[in-house]
Amino acid sequence: MFPTQHLIICEHCDCVYEKAVLGKHQKTLCARCGGVLQRYNGLTVEQRLALSVTAAMLWLFANFYPVMSISMKGLKNSATLWDSVLALSQGPITFMAMVAAISIIIAPAFQLVLLIWVLSFALSARRAPGFKLCMRWLETLRPWSMLEVCLLGAMVAVFKLAGLLDVLPGIGLFALAVLSLMMIRIAGRDIRDLWDIL
Ligand SMILES: [Zn+2]
Repeated sequence: MFPTQHLIICEHCDCVYEKAVLGKHQKTLCARCGGVLQRYNGLTVEQRLALSVTAAMLWLFANFYPVMSISMKGLKNSATLWDSVLALSQGPITFMAMVAAISIIIAPAFQLVLLIWVLSFALSARRAPGFKLCMRWLETLRPWSMLEVCLLGAMVAVFKLAGLLDVLPGIGLFALAVLSLMMIRIAGRDIRDLWDIL
């Protein structure tokens, strides 16, 4: 059978290419549709695992500390990410609460658990139990994880409300900001390299 390990398929147009070894800041593009095929990522398994554990800590901070506190005439209120989901669930569009919970809390949490699981075995050059399933779930979850959208929304809310009330960004917001940047770095497409390494 023809060996396929060194081949890569464009996920936009199914064109097949041979994998290239990339240098710093390099990426390969599909000649037919211009989609990104490979992007250089200098992270080793150890670094990726360390970043995943840090991201898991940040997830805890982002979820258990208030994203912002508002006060007006002596009245004070603060909200965590979970409070915002609960508030949505009491509104007229309960369905949105479920989507919000999945995209800002559940999907990132699952991604981190799967990453830590897969990477902690990869550290000793072994495939984790359920490796294939974990890797497929990481692909499935990626489009559902929308922390950066949530971050933008929270920042717009902080700026908009600041004109009307006293608004104080909380620890949750800072954790959310760093977490969303880290998720782009550690849970991107290049995690697929593990298929080749292991
Ligand atoms: Zn293409």
